[in-house]
Amino acid sequence: MEIIHISAECYPVAKAGGLGDVVGALPKYQCKAGHIAKVVMPMYRTKFLYENEWTVDFKGNANLGSWFFDFTIIKESTNKLGFDLFLVDINGLLDRQRIYGYDDDSERFTAFQIAVASWMSSWEHNPDVVHCHDHHTGLLPFMMQYCYDFKKLSSVPTVFTIHNAQYQGWMGWDKSRYIPRWDLWKRGMLDWADSINPLASAIKCATRVTTVSWSYMEELRFHSNGLEKLFEYERGKCIGILNGIDNEVWNPETDKYLTDHYSVKKVTGGKQKNKESLCQQFSLDPEKPLFVFIGRLVGEKAAEILPDAIKTSLYYTQGAACFLVLGSGDPEVEWRFTEMIEPYKGSFNAVIGYDETLSHRMYAGADFLLMPSRVEPCGLNQMYAMRYGTVPVVRSTGGLQDTVVDMGDPEGFGIRFNHASIHDVEYSIGRGIAVYQDTAHMEKMRKWMMQIDHSWESTVDQYTQVYESIQ
Ligand code: ADP
Repeated sequence: MEIIHISAECYPVAKAGGLGDVVGALPKYQCKAGHIAKVVMPMYRTKFLYENEWTVDFKGNANLGSWFFDFTIIKESTNKLGFDLFLVDINGLLDRQRIYGYDDDSERFTAFQIAVASWMSSWEHNPDVVHCHDHHTGLLPFMMQYCYDFKKLSSVPTVFTIHNAQYQGWMGWDKSRYIPRWDLWKRGMLDWADSINPLASAIKCATRVTTVSWSYMEELRFHSNGLEKLFEYERGKCIGILNGIDNEVWNPETDKYLTDHYSVKKVTGGKQKNKESLCQQFSLDPEKPLFVFIGRLVGEKAAEILPDAIKTSLYYTQGAACFLVLGSGDPEVEWRFTEMIEPYKGSFNAVIGYDETLSHRMYAGADFLLMPSRVEPCGLNQMYAMRYGTVPVVRSTGGLQDTVVDMGDPEGFGIRFNHASIHDVEYSIGRGIAVYQDTAHMEKMRKWMMQIDHSWESTVDQYTQVYESIQ
């Protein structure tokens, strides 16, 4: 099958979170399974762009309202990612340093989708499936069906994957002029609560909707930032498919970011070496259990409860554990972590920012990974942690609930709690400190979780079934 993935992120080209990881891996494994999977994304000014060779595939032009723009589609020449990668260059709009966070993001991603639809309409053939990811590509299923200029694409089945339903891309109806001539009777397919809502539109218009875990699919019917009724109504076309992880990138035996590699057999010694180098760099005690947090410092991740949970835990255990945080996001939370570095020196450290290398070293060197998330559609961090023999300490929600078994249960290897509260986190840290003393138990859990299969192969099969069901 020919599958065209449309996304705002794709690792290693541009990544802000899990979406990038998934779109960097799924097409690669689909190609390995014999499909022709391609990725189309905006051309940002990234390191990847300057370090690789490109050929021009298509030049076109289109309108965003009254603004006439030229666009160019370039293709990575060597197929080094294992799939064809196409970047859409729209001068002045997409070619920026960051992926998101600009005032004109609505204009940027709408123009991107118009360019993609114009380009695909110019092909002699139609692809078997267009697979869109998150709200930045949520208007495409509508455009393909109801814009007169893209009529050729109206019979192409679309799959829309929700990686995060909190962000929906709302825009006022005044921006409806951006969408190329469309069937005005279909206004309802764009609208939710008197705004144009790209996420809601994709749920209405896509042939199938998937979310990145089963539990998240269920949760969305009760908590989805205003779309609960829509999820209830569209249940029939929604399906949960758990993400995989890229075992070629995330492998402690070969990880290019690690100096001390280790296998399942050598996990205890291997992790200790990684921990020592981390602890030396961040002035922490390698004899104590090391808890880390890696992620966006936002409400969804319940990052704001961590400073107090860590302080309380250090107080009640008289400094029995060490903590290292890597993340960026809410300036208030960044400031609270930064403020703790000096007074808690030796027990706590934090790096505010995004650092891929350090994240790999932390998964390898830590004993425990903290994830108190309020919302976690799938969560990749806990799966990376398991692959590196690091015990996940997670709130029971979404994909965390689907992938982590509490150590109190048979064949358990993690620590689960119910509330994103200081008390629950502090109590769970206490359970971690206690089990850390039992080295045989720790080793058994590490070995067990490292062997759990979260590879993409089985996930690819599930997506193939979805595609086949809509041909
Ligand atoms: P989300 O997409 O909601 O941010 P996921 O768990 O799905 O969460 O994916 C997070 C991904 O982003 C993981 O690969 C994680 O290692 C990475 N990540 C998040 N924050 C950082 C950071 N500050 N530095 C390096 N990697 C990060």
